[in-house]
Amino acid sequence: MAEAASDWGLSTRCVHAGTFADTVAGGVNTPIFASSAFRVPGPLGHVVYPRYQNIPGQMAVARKIAALENAQAGIVVSSGMAAISSVFLAFCQNGDHVVLQRDLYGGTLGLAQKELPRRGIQVSWVDSQSIEDFEAALRPETRLIYVETPSNPLMKILDLKALAQLARSRGVLTVADNTFATPINQNPLDLGIDLVVHSGTKYLNGHSDLCCGAVVGRAELMAAVVPVVSLYGPSLSPYDCFLLERGLKTLALRMTRHNQNGMAVASFLARDSRVERVYYPGLAEHSDHAIAVGQMRGFGGMLSFEPKGNTETAQRVMKRFGLFQPAVSLGGVESLACFPAETSHASVPPAHREKMGIRDTLIRLSVGIEDTEDLLKDLDQALQEVL
Ligand SMILES: *Cc1c(COP(=O)(O)O)cnc(C)c1O
Repeated sequence: MAEAASDWGLSTRCVHAGTFADTVAGGVNTPIFASSAFRVPGPLGHVVYPRYQNIPGQMAVARKIAALENAQAGIVVSSGMAAISSVFLAFCQNGDHVVLQRDLYGGTLGLAQKELPRRGIQVSWVDSQSIEDFEAALRPETRLIYVETPSNPLMKILDLKALAQLARSRGVLTVADNTFATPINQNPLDLGIDLVVHSGTKYLNGHSDLCCGAVVGRAELMAAVVPVVSLYGPSLSPYDCFLLERGLKTLALRMTRHNQNGMAVASFLARDSRVERVYYPGLAEHSDHAIAVGQMRGFGGMLSFEPKGNTETAQRVMKRFGLFQPAVSLGGVESLACFPAETSHASVPPAHREKMGIRDTLIRLSVGIEDTEDLLKDLDQALQEVL
């Protein structure tokens, strides 16, 4: 198994970190070890079983992600939600209190609204990105703070270093969902966050053909997560591990392009008189641009905008897209577009949605790696619907 050299850059880690050596044929890739039964005693020196998170394919790809996030340890699981729910199950129990940012992925919102209370875990919500508001929400029994930055769909940025400092001083664990930024653009652990979760379904795999997730962090914390995952059972198959490992080899390359295209599309829309508002942390006029510059190396391919006009205008713009396909999900090589009000935030009452700043005209783009000019042309022709 290749250990990442500490001086390897991120692109080298993407390609080489974690690879499980093929000692039989000398292949340069981690083989697909398609076994659920392994001999005891075996060459790895421990009992090997997929649900225990220790078949070679799982270990290889988990080590690659851990190396990219500067984490001591990591695991891969069968979805982003499996990663997120496993963290709550591992660290929170009846009587505990948790603090969550309100701007969260819809599935995480649902988990905290429906599942955590059922287990006797009290939940408080923070409606802003202000560290003072997080501090005000803390109680003596607060166990964990959970955040996501950039947030969906308005790309708000939270100061991770300041949050981690506050939490440390109060003995509270911090968990950050790094799906939108990826380890290429941001490393929350380096800023003092305790655990990072990912929906690997998105940028990590990057080809919109796989559902998976990951948790990474200090060895001592991961030692509490792994037994929970083994008992609840969301393990990733050797075939999916292979796909994820293959996808990850080009993560740095893909993100460079997503960053370039994201910035080009955001700048184009920000200059266009047919556009009301653009939300992209890379734009100087974004409300949290200064924090973004301080903690991110690139701003990614996710952005949202409102064309001028009413809901019908926005619907017509969406229908007219060619390259931007109407689809939820994100982070793949192809460009996608959706209405958060109809998808991720459909269950939020319209009045509350409005208060959050998520209007019915808001279109979220996942900007892919196509030629920049082709994407701008597609947006330009779709915006002809704005009169
Ligand atoms: C998609 C997503 C998730 C959930 O991941 P799944 O792989 O769909 O379970 C969690 N967080 C964010 C930010 C996401 O975009």
